[in-house]
Amino acid sequence: MPATILDGTRIAQEIRSEAAADVKTMTAAGVRPGLAVVLVGHNPASEIYVRGKVKACEEVGVYSEKFTPAESATTAELLALVQDLNRREEIDGILVQLPLPPQVDSKKVLLAVDPAKDVDGFHPMNVGFLSTQRPGLVPCTPAGVVEILKRSNIAIAGREAVVVGRSDIVGKPVAMLLTNANATVTICHSKTHDLPGVCRRADILVAAIGRAGMITRDFVKPGATVIDVGMNTVSDPAEFQRFFAGHAKREETFRKKGSTLIGDVHPEVTEIAGAITPVPGGVGPLTIAMLMVNTVKAAKMRRGSRVGELSRA
Ligand code: NAP
Repeated sequence: MPATILDGTRIAQEIRSEAAADVKTMTAAGVRPGLAVVLVGHNPASEIYVRGKVKACEEVGVYSEKFTPAESATTAELLALVQDLNRREEIDGILVQLPLPPQVDSKKVLLAVDPAKDVDGFHPMNVGFLSTQRPGLVPCTPAGVVEILKRSNIAIAGREAVVVGRSDIVGKPVAMLLTNANATVTICHSKTHDLPGVCRRADILVAAIGRAGMITRDFVKPGATVIDVGMNTVSDPAEFQRFFAGHAKREETFRKKGSTLIGDVHPEVTEIAGAITPVPGGVGPLTIAMLMVNTVKAAKMRRGSRVGELSRA
């Protein structure tokens, strides 16, 4: 039986609606959550991401401000901007879109963001809060992975989870969240021996690798839940055929656009998994939805005590 498709677009919409309801209540009480987005230079992919984030703010009712320093911006200039945003009361979240130009010391800039406004959850203080199970801001994509599992009623506690990928922005925080939710977690990477064998132990397999279709059916225990975080573009026709021969809808997209998006999981895995997130339309939409959740959360943590009922939310 083919896997149940975990519809990330629907789950993300549900989360955005909940965030919008929260924002409405908070705004009525005089605390409208605010997000500052910093986009340095003209990286085309970053411009698309930032447009999506600003649009989500409009839809959810979050106040947003976009800052667009020039490509030539220096570390000192960006530090000054971040410090200004740290001081501003109506700004609850600061998002510095990565990557920053090479002359900028990215780590220094990210470290300067007030941890209480770090809606990306990348500041070492929030990393520490996550690992010690204290309230804080959790990175958006990993938080989205866990939301998909929870909202799809997929049990986590006591189950074997395998995360392939150990980046600071996806793999490690996903593993930490699953550990906190009482899964037994194994983290794999490029030096892991017998990767397919380790992955086959998983009841929940999370792929965050960045390699098109690498997770084939040999990596998957029949019936396992597979969460595909990967986002890879395929534009080579031969590679496209290898993954999607016979998929009419994909073939049409590929003909029109000359490329298609594929995750780290091979499409054949739908034949063996119990449940799976598609690409596109799986984890991707959750990232911006969780950014909205984090902005609301940051506003509640910083300013909620001003409004009695909000502090309990
Ligand atoms: P990354 O920083 O490049 O990390 C990739 C990880 O995969 C590393 O830990 C690496 O191991 C591991 N890896 C690479 N090749 C491997 C192999 N052959 N076998 C086993 N492990 C291997 O990537 P990332 O930032 O975590 O992103 C991962 C994927 O998620 C990318 O496709 C990215 O586009 C996507 N992504 C999606 C979203 C979303 O919104 N859906 C958000 C963020 C990222 P080593 O540590 O040993 O090098």
